[in-house]
Amino acid sequence: MISMPLDVLLIFLVSISLLVVAVLALIYNIRSLHHPNCEKESIYECSECGHVYAFARARPMDRCPRCGHLNDAVRT
Ligand SMILES: [Zn+2]
Repeated sequence: MISMPLDVLLIFLVSISLLVVAVLALIYNIRSLHHPNCEKESIYECSECGHVYAFARARPMDRCPRCGHLNDAVRT
């Protein structure tokens, strides 16, 4: 069996963990580049008819496409 000092083993394990996290972050960033508009969507829930809808505009309020009632954004 290969004998390794404990500090070298710890550095090796931490380096492997950081490398895995860096690769996952890179994959996440590359995947999010394909959908840049998803983060700009605002989600609304109509207080009149309960319809949930989303628009890719950054407005604080927007009209419900079903009944035309003006609603606040639940999440931007
Ligand atoms: Zn509505």
